[in-house]
Amino acid sequence: MREYDLVIIGAGPGGYETALEAAGTYGMKTALIEKEALGGTCLNHGCIPTKTLLHSADLYRQMKECERFGLRAEGVSFDMEKIQMRKTEVLDTLRSGIAMLMKQKKVDVFTGTGRIVGPHTVEVSLEGEESRKLDTENIVIATGSRAVMPPIPGADFPGVMTSDELLEKRDLPGHLLIIGGGVIGMEFASVYSAFGTKVTVLEALPKIISNMDKELSQSLKMLMKKRGVTICTGARVEEIRRDSAEESLLTCVYTEKEKPQSVEADCILICTGRRPNTEGLFGPEIAIAAERGRILTDGNGQTNVPGIYAIGDAAGGMMLAHAATAMGRNVLAHMNGKPAPVRADVIPACIYTDPEIASVGLTAEQAGSLGIEADSRKIVMSANGKTVLSAQERGFIKVVFEKETRRILGAQMMCARASDMIGEFAGAVVNGLTMEQMFSVVRPHPTFCEAITEACRQ
Ligand code: NAD
Repeated sequence: MREYDLVIIGAGPGGYETALEAAGTYGMKTALIEKEALGGTCLNHGCIPTKTLLHSADLYRQMKECERFGLRAEGVSFDMEKIQMRKTEVLDTLRSGIAMLMKQKKVDVFTGTGRIVGPHTVEVSLEGEESRKLDTENIVIATGSRAVMPPIPGADFPGVMTSDELLEKRDLPGHLLIIGGGVIGMEFASVYSAFGTKVTVLEALPKIISNMDKELSQSLKMLMKKRGVTICTGARVEEIRRDSAEESLLTCVYTEKEKPQSVEADCILICTGRRPNTEGLFGPEIAIAAERGRILTDGNGQTNVPGIYAIGDAAGGMMLAHAATAMGRNVLAHMNGKPAPVRADVIPACIYTDPEIASVGLTAEQAGSLGIEADSRKIVMSANGKTVLSAQERGFIKVVFEKETRRILGAQMMCARASDMIGEFAGAVVNGLTMEQMFSVVRPHPTFCEAITEACRQ
């Protein structure tokens, strides 16, 4: 008998959800190791704090535009200090909720750094304390990822930061320059432009949110421009300069269409991707196969060492909280000799701009490159009652389906509540539903989701 059935390293949405399910559903004696606060990037420096700020930003924008709804509000303003205080309250509530659940399910939580020193041994060390070794049947690596700082000269100047630091900033920059027009870049552009900050985005590729459908990228670019955000694509950043040590102004030098350009800003956000947190995770006694920091796993989430699994950002793939949780569920089933309960290959992706963007399954382009004969149907939201009555921005839903069978392969949308509605299409892709089967469902009126019926009409 070992001390534990399962030891999990990392308490993000991959690790803590897996711990709860292991102890609750499978009755496994479980330990969870975390060196910082419970909740991981998602809760402490990612999804939750960003979405809390976005919520305040959206409300502020709506309040300023409330006259069109027949409402009058004079002197609408905001207090960044109070917005930050509210964010802290939200995080504290959620963190203590996780701690309570761990207690309820009798998961042992260890504060410290976990290191795998044998196929069944994890060492926990905390500065100033003696380390201890946990003996376990299985190990799950759920150590997440961190922002990558590209080798741009000047990236270490004060005023240049990752989203972790920007989320803590209590004053508004005059001009925020964002390097990287991916998911993080566009969400921060949405927040800060709503608060009235001048925002410029520099993206190296020819389009922003480049791994999403072309039309989503174009529509978001247009919308952001309308809101005053400057977006430069095909812009390769060369250097960040600070002309004098006292000057807080930074100059970013970049090349756009072979021409050297520069832009001045007092705050620069670098969001050019993330890298798995796997350095120093293994002792010399153990060799786990990895590629550029990403731990390699088989279809069951197991590494080359039986009984050691990796999930979430540490294993690469789509770096999303719900993907990590899903992988954790499948890994637990495998440990317990059960079939995978979750289709972890169908992961919806959302961008919490206003309006939201969401996507699942294949785009028409991807289906084509896989040799699938596909068709797509697109509807615009301007005929949807709820969209008109709540004065939403223009939006659309696009459904991609196989020509012959009319099976739904994927969907992309940009509209209010897209992040809630994409779940219907994830269900359709997982269950192989056809356009007709999706159309056969009665959806309530007036709602945004009745547009799904329209999108799946023959
Ligand atoms: P990303 O990969 O989405 O985008 C990074 C962008 O930076 C790319 O478009 C890339 O071309 C560009 N880039 C790279 N080097 C550059 C340079 N030198 N100059 C200009 N542009 C450059 O990465 P991200 O936005 O940092 O997000 C990281 C991860 O976090 C992603 O996997 C994302 O899915 C996840 N995330 C998800 C959500 C969400 O689901 N809503 C929110 C935040 C983050």
